[in-house]
Amino acid sequence: MARIVIVEDQLDIASVVQDYLRAAGYETTHFADGQGALEHIVESPPDLTLLDIGLPRLDGIEVLRGAREHTDHPVIMVTARIEEVDRLLGLELGADDYVCKPFSPRELVARVGAVLRRFSPNDARTRTGQDLPGLVLDGVYWRASLDGTALNLTRREFSLLQVLSRHPGRIYSRARLLELTFSAGADVTDRAIDSHVKNLRRKLGVVTPTHEWIRSVYGAGFAWEPPLGPSPNFLPIRLPTSARRA
Ligand code: CA
Repeated sequence: MARIVIVEDQLDIASVVQDYLRAAGYETTHFADGQGALEHIVESPPDLTLLDIGLPRLDGIEVLRGAREHTDHPVIMVTARIEEVDRLLGLELGADDYVCKPFSPRELVARVGAVLRRFSPNDARTRTGQDLPGLVLDGVYWRASLDGTALNLTRREFSLLQVLSRHPGRIYSRARLLELTFSAGADVTDRAIDSHVKNLRRKLGVVTPTHEWIRSVYGAGFAWEPPLGPSPNFLPIRLPTSARRA
């Protein structure tokens, strides 16, 4: 049973979230202030933390900063304002997903499930590095293939794919993607990222037309989304027996 820490000072919200997560089979612990939550997380990191940003004593950003010095467990940030997401992305806090209030508890449970699946050690899709399901990246020759089909990417598309796929679900702003995929001082605009994303989507879409690998996050940027379940076009990763996890 996955253990989830809920950090939320609005008790009505906390109680609804707690009810839904428990009904979905999770074990939950609730904290109404940042300081208490941080102490608990550092002492015994849960499987996932749902972290509100506006909190008494220590805000969510400080809690995440403090927690990241000790643990890399998945964290979903909860914010009351969509505009805040951009600022948060700029801080590069290492959150794994963002949820905006008001949210539907059902959707929240789905997001929690998706993030936990990505981090589950028994799941081949969550292997760290860039070898995601069916996707093979060769950083030496800048070549990529999906389900055995070569993608014929440009260097820019390749680096975009490399950056995004390294942290599934993590939202990258256009500015951050520019910084990570173009050399410093290059004369490019945010629009360049949109056009590379568009081309990359098209090339991935030829192989898996039913799955959108790159999610647009309104007002924030883009995130890499591996399929949650097998899609008609999706072939499970084929590893040589020796490379399989015990
Ligand atoms: Ca709050």
